[in-house]
Amino acid sequence: MADFRQIPSVDQLIQSDNFQATLQSYGHDWTVSAIRETLNEIRSALKAGKALPSHAEIAQSVNQRLAAQSMPELQNVINATGVLLHTNLGRAPLSKAASQAASDLSQTYSSLEFNLSTGKRGKRESHCAEFISRLSGAEDALVVNNNAGAVLLALSALAKGKKVAISRAQLVEIGGGFRIPDVMRQSGAKLVEIGTTNRTHLKDYEEAIGQGAQLVMTAHQSNFQILGFTTEPSLTEICALAKSAGLPVYLDLGSGSFINMEQYGLAHEPTVPEVIAQGADLVSFSGDKLLGGPQAGILAGKKALIDKIRKHPLYRALRPDKLCLAALSATLLHYLKGDYEQEIPLYRMLSQSEAQIKQRAQAWQAQLPKSQIIPGESTIGGGSLPGETLPTWLLQFKPKSANKLLNALRAGKPPIIARIQEQSVVLDPRTVQAEEELIIIQRLKEFLE
Ligand SMILES: *Cc1c(COP(=O)(O)O)cnc(C)c1O
Repeated sequence: MADFRQIPSVDQLIQSDNFQATLQSYGHDWTVSAIRETLNEIRSALKAGKALPSHAEIAQSVNQRLAAQSMPELQNVINATGVLLHTNLGRAPLSKAASQAASDLSQTYSSLEFNLSTGKRGKRESHCAEFISRLSGAEDALVVNNNAGAVLLALSALAKGKKVAISRAQLVEIGGGFRIPDVMRQSGAKLVEIGTTNRTHLKDYEEAIGQGAQLVMTAHQSNFQILGFTTEPSLTEICALAKSAGLPVYLDLGSGSFINMEQYGLAHEPTVPEVIAQGADLVSFSGDKLLGGPQAGILAGKKALIDKIRKHPLYRALRPDKLCLAALSATLLHYLKGDYEQEIPLYRMLSQSEAQIKQRAQAWQAQLPKSQIIPGESTIGGGSLPGETLPTWLLQFKPKSANKLLNALRAGKPPIIARIQEQSVVLDPRTVQAEEELIIIQRLKEFLE
C-alpha cells in the first residue's frame, strides 16, 4: 500500500528551489493550482501502485501543465484542405502589407478619430470609405464589424417599422444561424415576401410595392443554387421599378468582390462596381470573403442612406476596431494599385494554374515516395460561389488508418489541416503558402517513417 504521507505538501514544493523559476513565470496562484492538480494525479498513480516521483519530476510535470494551459487556443494552422475561404480556419489570410499595417498601428497611439490637418475630431473609417468609393463608384461607404452586423444595421436604420419587400428565393440562411427573415424581425422591419421559391416576376415586385413596401431588398444566394424552372428579374429592372416608385434598393451581396471571378474560370459573381452601376442604392458585403481582407462588414451606396445608417445608435455597437481598419485599408489599396493577384493570398491561390499546382504536388511527392498525385477539386467555401470548383492536383496517402494520419497532422505545431477522400488522406497545394511547404513535407516524412 502506498504511503500518502510521503507526498510533499504544496507549501513544501513552492519553497523548494525547483519551483522558483516557475513562480517567477506564472505567478503564485496559477502555480499553486497547477501543483494541486499534479498532486491529485500523483495520488491516483500511487493508488495504482506507481512509485512516488521526485521533487524535480513533480516540478517538470507542473511546468508542462502550465505550458499547456498558457498556450493560446488561437493558433496559426496550415490549410491543406483546398477550401480557399474556410470559415472555421479564419476565412481569408491577409496580405503581408495588410498584416504589417495592423501590426504597425497596434503599438502606438493613432489618428483613429483625429483629423491631422484640422486637429479636430475625424471619422474612424473615412480612409477606407474613400478607397471603397473609388473602387466601387458608390457615393459613400461605412465599415462595421462584419456583414451580419451590416445587414442588421442597414435594416434597423432604414426600415424599422416599415415594410421591406424581398423575393421568397432570397429568404436565406447562411451559416451560424443567420437567417434573413430573423434579422429582419430583429431590426423591426416587416417582411413582405415576393413571388415564389423558384420564380419571381417583375409584376410581383410591383405588387409588393403597391402593398406599401418602402425598401426593396435582395440577398445573394451565397451557399446554394436553385436550378431548373426558375426566374428572377434582373437587378437593372428591379432598380428601375423601385426608382419609379421612389424606393431604395438594398443588396446584401454577402461576398463582395471588386474582381470578375470569370477570369479564374469561375461563375460570374456580381461585383460591387457592377451592382452600383446597375442602380443599387446600397450594398453590403464581407471584408474576409472574396475581398481577401480582415473580418469586416462594408456598406456602400448613396450618401443620404450611409449618413442615416452612421447616425443609428447600433452603429456604435458595431463599429470596427483600428486594427481591422488598418488591414482593410491596406487590402483595398492592392485593388487600387492593381497588385492584388501578387499580394492578396486568396488571389495568389485562385490564379495558380493547374500545371503550376501539379508541379508543386510533384515536388512534394518526390520527397514522399509513399504518396500518389491525383486530380481533384479546390472549392471556394465561406459562403461564396456555391458549387463552383477549381481543378487541382492532390497529394494522396493511403495509410492503414486515414484518421490516424489526419489526427497526427493536426496534432503537430503548427497543426496541418488535411481532408479525407475515399478513405485516403489528401492535401491540396493550392491553399498551402510557399513558406509552409517544408513544414508539411517534414511532418509527413516523420509520420510515415
Ligand atoms: C456571409 C454572408 C453574410 C454574413 O457575413 P459575415 O461577414 O460572415 O458576418 C450575410 N449575408 C450573406 C448573403 C452572406 O453570404
